[in-house]
Amino acid sequence: MKSTKCAYQECKRPALPDLRAQGYCILHAPWPEKDLNAFQSAIDEIIRDAPAHGNVCNFSHCYFPQNYDCENLRGAFEYNCSFLRATFYGSVDLVGVKLSGRTSFWQAKFYGDANLKGAEFSESVFFGPVQFFEKVTFAMTKFCGDANFLRARFSGGVCFTSAEFHGDAQFMEANFSGEVDFVLANFSGDANFRRAGFSRDTIFAWASFLKSVDFSYVKSGSVIFQDVNCLGPQQVRFHHVDLSRWSFLNTDLRRIDFDDVTWALTRKFLSHRTALFDELNVSSRKDDLASVERLYRHLKKNYESQRDYGRAGDFYYGEMEMKRRQLNAPGQIPFWLYRLMSGYGENYRQALAVLIGMWIVFAVLFVLIGYTDKEMGLSVQRFLTWNPSGLGETFADFARSLIYSAQSMTLFHEPNITFHSVWGQAVELLASILGVIQIALFGLALQRRFKR
Ligand SMILES: [Zn+2]
Repeated sequence: MKSTKCAYQECKRPALPDLRAQGYCILHAPWPEKDLNAFQSAIDEIIRDAPAHGNVCNFSHCYFPQNYDCENLRGAFEYNCSFLRATFYGSVDLVGVKLSGRTSFWQAKFYGDANLKGAEFSESVFFGPVQFFEKVTFAMTKFCGDANFLRARFSGGVCFTSAEFHGDAQFMEANFSGEVDFVLANFSGDANFRRAGFSRDTIFAWASFLKSVDFSYVKSGSVIFQDVNCLGPQQVRFHHVDLSRWSFLNTDLRRIDFDDVTWALTRKFLSHRTALFDELNVSSRKDDLASVERLYRHLKKNYESQRDYGRAGDFYYGEMEMKRRQLNAPGQIPFWLYRLMSGYGENYRQALAVLIGMWIVFAVLFVLIGYTDKEMGLSVQRFLTWNPSGLGETFADFARSLIYSAQSMTLFHEPNITFHSVWGQAVELLASILGVIQIALFGLALQRRFKR
């Protein structure tokens, strides 16, 4: 039988006689159970010839067998390495390995776990549209140059705990199907997560971003973005993102660039307002409530500086709610009242509704207590002499009472009436005090809503 050449491009190695090799050589045959010794000899040959090939080890399109020990690649890592479209059938264990040259895994496939814990990439590394089918660990991995994970697909869990990105970190359009851990990760260069997708829980706790970060168009489940250190917060972008399941506790949000983001909502009766995921999940511990209060204060300032007073008002409401919940019951009373009367000065519709409610209630009280209008020679005393047949008269009395009630509340004109009991004066006084306060609150809420 005539020996043929490998079917892969200009590969000069002989094709394996086995049918399962599909006409490829020991390196390029897409076959998980290849002979390990023969495979390693071919690898060693590439490493040996690297100086003659511009210090490049070219492992493009190589299929690494199921039981291959990647430690045997160590010799290659002092050169630039190309694993372009390489396939690793088994696990890749490169704990603590130092890769001195530029490394490319462009479009490589990892069918087993990939463990690069504590590895060091001295130059830039490309994990371009790589597919990781199992767990991936880059814990404490040091990326000295740029780290490019553009459109990488991670099917299992991903761990970047304490990873150091000294160059730019490119995760644009990367897709994470498992849990993702960037705890204590340090991004010294620009970090780009634009259009990345996080399907499961994702943690960025205690991460540091020293330059710009882009989370625009990110799709995510629950994300813990707590205690994150953003040194250039005006360069931290969240555009067109759903943040309704992001927790931001202890992260400074004052100058972060939020645009068209979706926050969580909290509903009460018929109304709803923008809220933070952190408020909806906060414990009743004072420290936690104070942390959420701080978040709201930051966001309020942030949105005020963007002149988005509607949202700023919602965050102010949240801030007041957090303040209230830190107090004991008697301390909460002024907050309850302020909230009831005008939604902490933020809801002019509520303030107006309360004002109208007061007006009607005082008119009813006036009718119930009974009074005499001397000028008109009228005596209203409905409380004791309710007469269903004189319904028209009752309405007329009530309408008159509405006028007196409005006069008492606005202090425009002292109503010229005498009450039939001392309760009348008390109610009138109360109407004057509450009326003036409520009108002021309504005006304030209106002004806050529309200020420029
Ligand atoms: Zn070949």
